[in-house]
Amino acid sequence: MAKIRIWWAKYRPTTRKLVQLAAALLQNANLKGFAEGKIYTGQTKAVCVPGLNCYSCPAAVGACPLGALQNALSVSAQRPAFYVIGLIALFGLLLGRMICGWLCPFGWIQELLYKAPGPKIRKSRVTRALSWIKYGVLAVFAVILPLWYGITKFPMPAFCKYICPAGTLEGAAGLLIHPANAGLRSMLGELFSLKAAILVLTVTACVFVYRAFCRFICPLGAVYSLFSRIALAGVRVEASVCSGCGACVRTCRMDVLRVGDRECIHCGECVSVCPEKAISIRAGKLVLKGPETGERRRPDTKIA
Ligand code: SF4
Ligand code: SF4
Repeated sequence: MAKIRIWWAKYRPTTRKLVQLAAALLQNANLKGFAEGKIYTGQTKAVCVPGLNCYSCPAAVGACPLGALQNALSVSAQRPAFYVIGLIALFGLLLGRMICGWLCPFGWIQELLYKAPGPKIRKSRVTRALSWIKYGVLAVFAVILPLWYGITKFPMPAFCKYICPAGTLEGAAGLLIHPANAGLRSMLGELFSLKAAILVLTVTACVFVYRAFCRFICPLGAVYSLFSRIALAGVRVEASVCSGCGACVRTCRMDVLRVGDRECIHCGECVSVCPEKAISIRAGKLVLKGPETGERRRPDTKIA
């Protein structure tokens, strides 16, 4: 019995893990799509979900905001992209990068991959420098190229087409494994080989580096990071209580320089390591997770 209790204390799912699972299932509620080998085309597909979740995943019941943004920019000469930009801004203003830490299905998949055994590469100045790449990917592949192709009358979601490993995993692979889609498999070419290679690279990197895609490449994370300082909900530090010990930043696996900055995904895992109980997750004045409401620190969580 004592062994079970120790095991449970170590491995019980946290509230965040349960929310991540629920969010992934809600955004992919059409599970029968995998059995049918078809994309869901119901009315909810017109609405964007908050996290990176491929529109072409057979289980997806909503649209990916990043794919929707690229498509909308591609045709913005004919129809301004107000709806998609407004919706992404609303998500950002309400939740910011809490979406990355709590609601993004691909972020959750990356955390599961990191649980695989193997050496782990910790954050450093190099990973902090690499974290700027995602802003370049956002600018070039999610904004400039879609706008450019739109002007030349060839609408194209460039990030989805050339890079997105979530699309390859959830969308392409989800459809291609179905026997009814043998015709699709025969049409695969060099572009699919490139995207499959990017997916393999991403999966491998995520085994060794915590949330490698999220930290270095994801343009949606780059967009939401712009709202870090103004989002309604997120992690907060009580400055008058903080002693500046730095335990929070040392414990965090993201490339943060301080709690709540552009790289913080507001996961709240630093709440339990703060010796001064200065950290909480809040939505306005409401405390969602704090020293008094949060889970106790797990026995295996080290304070550096
Ligand atoms: S762990 Fe707490 S006291 Fe230490 S720097 Fe972070 S917020 Fe401040
Ligand atoms: S600073 Fe805290 S809340 Fe932000 S990502 Fe790191 S552990 Fe999570």
